[in-house]
Amino acid sequence: MMTTATTMATTAAAASGGRPLDGKVALVTGGSRGIGEATALRLAADGAAVALTYQSREDRAEQVVKRIEQAGGRAWAVRADSADPEAVWASVAGVAERFGRLDILVNNAGVGVLGPFEGITLEDVDRVLRTNVRAPFLAAQAAAGHLTEGGRIITIGSCMAERVAFPGGSLYATSKAALAGLTKALARELGPRGITANLVTPGPIDTEMNPADGESAEMQAGLTALGAYGQASDVAATVAHLAGEGGRYITGASIAVDGGFAV
Ligand code: NDP
Repeated sequence: MMTTATTMATTAAAASGGRPLDGKVALVTGGSRGIGEATALRLAADGAAVALTYQSREDRAEQVVKRIEQAGGRAWAVRADSADPEAVWASVAGVAERFGRLDILVNNAGVGVLGPFEGITLEDVDRVLRTNVRAPFLAAQAAAGHLTEGGRIITIGSCMAERVAFPGGSLYATSKAALAGLTKALARELGPRGITANLVTPGPIDTEMNPADGESAEMQAGLTALGAYGQASDVAATVAHLAGEGGRYITGASIAVDGGFAV
């Protein structure tokens, strides 16, 4: 159960001019680029010590760490292929050990495989489900052992699970839809401990996965109510809201940051 003491402590920190996440430790999976990078930078700017995982782009991960450290924050990059359970478990345990605690898990790392339904291979199915579904499940399970009252699990889904607006999204939508069930189950199961779990569903966001100058970009922008791509920082701002005091009484929710894609 969430206690008044926690609320009062958080409110006191804010009143004394502290940053919203001072003293908190966050783990952002896939924090070397795109939405994960923007989220890691934003949570660090809000005061959290941030660990970020990456798969292969060590250079990019180290750049994010450097930017956080140059701004006076604490950060750590750890290679952890989300498709590898041992690596997922080790990354969660490593963060808790290095920083002494874990308060916020952002399940962001993901892959997008788009293509005609009948052309999707068994290898595609396994790779996407391992990375987009099994990894967030296992990371949440591992994190649950470290999170205490006020803990947050924030998972990045997709607008494609809300509205499959064009052909080719069968595997990606399947994987991202599973995260809504996971989020609700986590909210129900961890709620009594004062831990929240929420899903953020981005629309078309300008990253290397889905560049705003890519060949389907105009079509995707046209499917949103705003007629435009979003930025990684738009998603990061919502994650930061959920991670902070603003997320205290939000759990089991799915929050679209999609420019009205799912409308
Ligand atoms: P990017 O491809 O730009 O970045 C992906 C990040 O995830 C990188 O940090 C990458 O690490 C990491 N990553 C990928 N696979 C693995 C893996 N197996 N193990 C560990 N890390 C991995 O993607 P976005 O920033 O665009 O997407 C982030 C999340 O947002 C994903 O879950 C995606 O599905 C979701 N999303 C994105 C949308 C968009 O339009 N961009 C829309 C809706 C949802 P490395 O740098 O080492 O490769």
